[in-house]
Amino acid sequence: MNALTTHSANSMSDDRPSELLPQFTILGQPVHLSNDYVSWLIDRLQHGIGTHVVTMNAEIVIYADRDPELSTIIHHADLVTPDGSGIIMALKLHGVLQPRYAGIDLGEDLLRWAGNQDRDYPVFFYGGKPQIVQQAAQKWQTELPNLKIAGVEHGYLDAEAQSKLLHQVQTTQPKIILVALGVPRQEIWIRDNFHLCPQAIWIGVGGSFDVWSGVKNRAPQYIRNLELEWLYRILQEPSRWRRALALPQFAVLAIAERIWGKDKPAR
Ligand code: UDP
Repeated sequence: MNALTTHSANSMSDDRPSELLPQFTILGQPVHLSNDYVSWLIDRLQHGIGTHVVTMNAEIVIYADRDPELSTIIHHADLVTPDGSGIIMALKLHGVLQPRYAGIDLGEDLLRWAGNQDRDYPVFFYGGKPQIVQQAAQKWQTELPNLKIAGVEHGYLDAEAQSKLLHQVQTTQPKIILVALGVPRQEIWIRDNFHLCPQAIWIGVGGSFDVWSGVKNRAPQYIRNLELEWLYRILQEPSRWRRALALPQFAVLAIAERIWGKDKPAR
């Protein structure tokens, strides 16, 4: 069922100071609702409570419907944000008005907060091609000279380099860990390694490093306002068309769910 519930998932709920965020279920997957996700996250960060963030879109809902492992990870995430226009429209069908908050915007807002003078919240950039992640981190270091960067590593590591990376993450204890490996690789990696930095915010940020490095463009604001960023991404990267097939599928299922209430039970 997709009733609005006040719920926050995951392991460390006992002593968390943050308010619980209301949650809505779309096609069996949770989405948390808020007008200020960043303040909620920063509150937890300042109280030493780790957070796994999933940035939800239509494609992930369809993927999770076929992949019980990803579905379980999403249900255990501490925060699931409405990253995609499909999610916003599905919420609207149920009378829930929630602004879209793209994962890339969440990443940028957290970086700007962490990059403020006198803040000691180091950031780790992991994922993307070697030059891309370096350029993305460099962009932020230039823009935010006070930003503390705990580490920068690309997303194509062999087993030995991967174990070095995990050691580095554990010893540097970053407070914000941005993981750009694509779905579901980034969600699985976060689940497997969250225990190394249980006080950090861990976010799967998909193609954000590609945009920050300058190799790909973000859709202009007016296209985002029209809820057409997904179309812009397909036009910029036509090889994504196969993945985009999930969008009409999601739309049909979301409308069916609204009309007939044919929601699948949460896993
Ligand atoms: N990637 C990676 N390692 C891999 C596979 C992918 O680091 O083994 C990176 C890839 O270089 C790209 C990102 O993961 O930067 C995936 O971006 P995509 O646009 O597919 O993610 P989305 O935003 O759609 O989730």
